[in-house]
Order: sequence, then structure tokens, then C-alpha cells
Amino acid sequence: MNKTEKKIEQLELQIVEQKVTREKELLITEMKKIGIEKLPYSYSALKQFIDPETMDFHYNKHYKGYVDKLNDALSKKKYGDLELEQIIKTISRFDKTIRNNAGGAFNHALFWNMLSPEPKRLKGDLQKKIIKDFGSFILFKKKFEEIAKERFGSGWVWLVLTGRNTLKIMSTPNQDNPLMNIIEGGGFPLLGLDLWEHAYYLKYKNKRDEYISNFWKVVNWDFVSKLYEMKTETKLLESTEMKKIIQDATPPQFCSSSEISDYKELTSNRAIKSLYQNGITEILKEVFQEFWVEKQKGEMSGFYGIESEGARSVLNNLNTNFNTFCLLTKAVNKQIDEIGKPNKKFNFSKKEKRTIEEVQRLIKALDYFKGKIFVKENKDFINIIKVLLQLWERGQKSEDKSTSVIEKYFGDRIKTDKTSGAGMELDALSGIDVVYTLDGVKHTAQVKPFSGVKKDGETITILNTGDVKPYKVDWMIFINDKTEKVLIFKNEPIQNQKQYVFKDSSLIHEIN
Ligand code: MN
Repeated sequence: MNKTEKKIEQLELQIVEQKVTREKELLITEMKKIGIEKLPYSYSALKQFIDPETMDFHYNKHYKGYVDKLNDALSKKKYGDLELEQIIKTISRFDKTIRNNAGGAFNHALFWNMLSPEPKRLKGDLQKKIIKDFGSFILFKKKFEEIAKERFGSGWVWLVLTGRNTLKIMSTPNQDNPLMNIIEGGGFPLLGLDLWEHAYYLKYKNKRDEYISNFWKVVNWDFVSKLYEMKTETKLLESTEMKKIIQDATPPQFCSSSEISDYKELTSNRAIKSLYQNGITEILKEVFQEFWVEKQKGEMSGFYGIESEGARSVLNNLNTNFNTFCLLTKAVNKQIDEIGKPNKKFNFSKKEKRTIEEVQRLIKALDYFKGKIFVKENKDFINIIKVLLQLWERGQKSEDKSTSVIEKYFGDRIKTDKTSGAGMELDALSGIDVVYTLDGVKHTAQVKPFSGVKKDGETITILNTGDVKPYKVDWMIFINDKTEKVLIFKNEPIQNQKQYVFKDSSLIHEIN
């Protein structure tokens, strides 16, 4: 084992043992400096857009300044061996100095390549996409210029490919970049224009609008198209490959029901539950940054296109599911095994430590191993996706079945609108699966499977309903898939922590 490997191992052990807290990436190998991107043309080559003096200053003073200050800040903090793009994607972990200078280094490195002395024409797939998403090339340019002009003070304007594979134009302040995980509604930058005064002032003075319109004379559409094609191709390839892996013959392996009940009980502690949920979301957002889509009209925010092109990913359910909480814990333990420290594994069974600190430690370990766990090569991860898919399908089946039972029972008196499945906002925010209109009155409903009930005086406890949590709906509907028994309750449970418990009087329809 060489020195570096040994050092990595020591660090890994420290992290698992929680001797190191936040700066876990520190000094894993010798500091690797962020390189300087070579200017692909001479200072005077872009005269129709910018003068040689500005170009010289922009490249040699401003850009190189960002790179130097970034390397300086990285080495002072003892971060090592990080790629610039990786820093940008996980920028929330770093301080302001690194944010500004990494942004400056990254943005300019892109910018130099987005410009060309020879005119390049937009063509091919990107041209089609721009026309599709903006109406025409002229409308696209108009929008780009509008948003550029709206930027007050220093910043950039960008053409971005979103996680939903749509193009959009946005602007970022200072040296921020749409790929930074702190930018809401970002995406992958395809084209950018520097709106800092240092980029144009010598030549244009206060006529920034002129600088913006001259930009079109030097855009390197070949480079921009290549970025677009590379990005769409890799994404398509990834989701196609993922789909293939998931569809193999190996059936999903669930945790046992006694294990699951341990995890269910663990998360009946609200603090633990929210710690787990937030932790998972943050980690997934870093790993699948480019698949994250911010809330937009009619749709909820979340991950799209991971296991199937363009579709809402089942990974969005990972942070609320007990079964996968259990499976994830096992996946982390396996990683710990591999680095050889079995006594520090996680165990959340009843007789073991089940504290907030222990869940915090789990999140930290998961964060540390995220690059090894959340990849298609990891069998545990693929199994987790399969489990989530099967649970989702079961949920769909329960909804369909309960609807058919309910429609048969009420006949013409009832009208059904399904909301779940397509990633509707309605469903995400309040947990509405179906909207039933009975005798002209609308009732939103959440549908759950159940195995039976326990009657106790004036209360009814519903057994084996899966995930228990509060919903903002009018009706809670329980369906037994085998017997096709359906119970409709007014959504006023006495308890919805570990089990749903209702008063007798809340049961409004019992259909068998
Ligand atoms: Mn600049």
C-alpha cells in the first residue's frame, strides 16, 4: 500500500468514526491545482465584439486572478483533488471566497470557448430545439438580450439546459453559475455572456446594450451545439442504461417486516424523521444535480429522468420510505465493511443506539459514501430503485382497485379524477391521490392499503397501512387488495404517528 492509499484509508476511518466533521474532503491527496484554460485565439481576434486591450486584461488579469485566488483558497482550507466542475456542483459546502473565485474560473473557462473569431452558424439538433422551445431563433435572441439587460450590476446571462430537457434563459449575479447547487431553477450552461463592466467598459463605456447585441457576431455555435449534444446524449444514455439494469430478472429484495417496523418506530420521532428526510434530499441533490427540477407550473420539484427518460423518478420517494431507510443503512454498512471496520456499523434495531446523533452519523457516512452508493454499478442502489418501483406500482394498483370498487358502489352518483402518477403538484403538496365528486360535492382523497382493523371501544385502528403520515385531504380511503373491502374515513384521525386510529363516527362508508 502506498502512502496516499494509506492516508485515504486513515481518513475514511476517521470519518466513519466521526473524528472529522464537516471538511471531510480535506487533504485526501496532494493538492491538485485548478488549471488555466488556454485562450483559443489571439487578443485581437474578436475585434467585431471586443478590443484587444480588454481581451488581454480580461484574460490575464481577471480570469487568471480568479484561478489563482481559487487555488490559494483551496490550499489554505486544505481541500484537495477536486475538479472545478465538482466544486461548482457542490458549492454550498464552500465559503464565499471559493464560491466567487470558482465561479469566476469556471464561467470564464466556458466563456472563452463559447466565442469564435470565425462566424459559426447555429444548426442541427440545437437549432431545432431552440426553435421548438422559443418559437424561433429571433425570439430566442430577443429573450436572451432582454434578460441580459435586466441584470443589474455584475453577473452573467445564460442559455441553460434544465433537468427536464428544456432550454431556458436565466441570469446569475456576480460569478454564480446555473450549475451551482445554490441556484434555484438552474441547469447545465450551454451559452453565457459576461455582463461585468470589466468585460466591455473600455470599448463600450455605458453602452452595454450594444455590447450585448454584438455578442451574436462571435458566438461559437459549434462549441455550444457540442455541449448540448454531449449533455443530451449522456443523459439519454444514462437513463436508458439505468432502465435496462432495473429491468433485469433479479427481483427486489425488501427488508423483513420486523426490520421495517424498527425503522418505522425510529422515525416516529419527528426530529429523527426530518433529519433523515432532509439529509437524504441534500445528498441526492448533489449526486443527481442535473436531474433536479425546481417546482414549475403544475408540477412538483424533484428528480426527473434518472431511471426513465423525462419521467419523474421514484428516487423522490426515497426519503419517506421505511423499507429503503433500512436498505440504505445496510448499504452503508457494506461500505464500512469494505474499508474494514465492522464494529462501527449502524444498527437501529430496538436494543441498539437509536439516537439523533446516530442518525446524524448515518447521514454523514451516507454523504461520505454517496459516490459509491448512488451509482448504477452498486447492486444495493439498483435494488433500492427496484423496491421503490414495486411499492409505487402497488400504490397505483391500490388506487385503481379502490376506484373501481367505489365507482361500482356509488354508480352514477360519483365522478373520479386521478391526480397521482403524473407528478402533479396537487398530489405532492397535500397527498391527494384521487378527487371524487359524490352527489356534486368534491372530496380529495388519499388511498392506502390495509390488512384489517382492530376495534377498541369507540376507536378503530387500521392495520398494515404502510407509510403513516398526516395528509391534507378530505377522505382517507383504505383498501384491502385481497378482499376488496374499502373503508372511507373523514380525515380526522385521533392518531397518525405509528398507526391510523379513528373514532367510529369518522367512518363514513364501508364497502364490501
Ligand atoms: Mn469577466
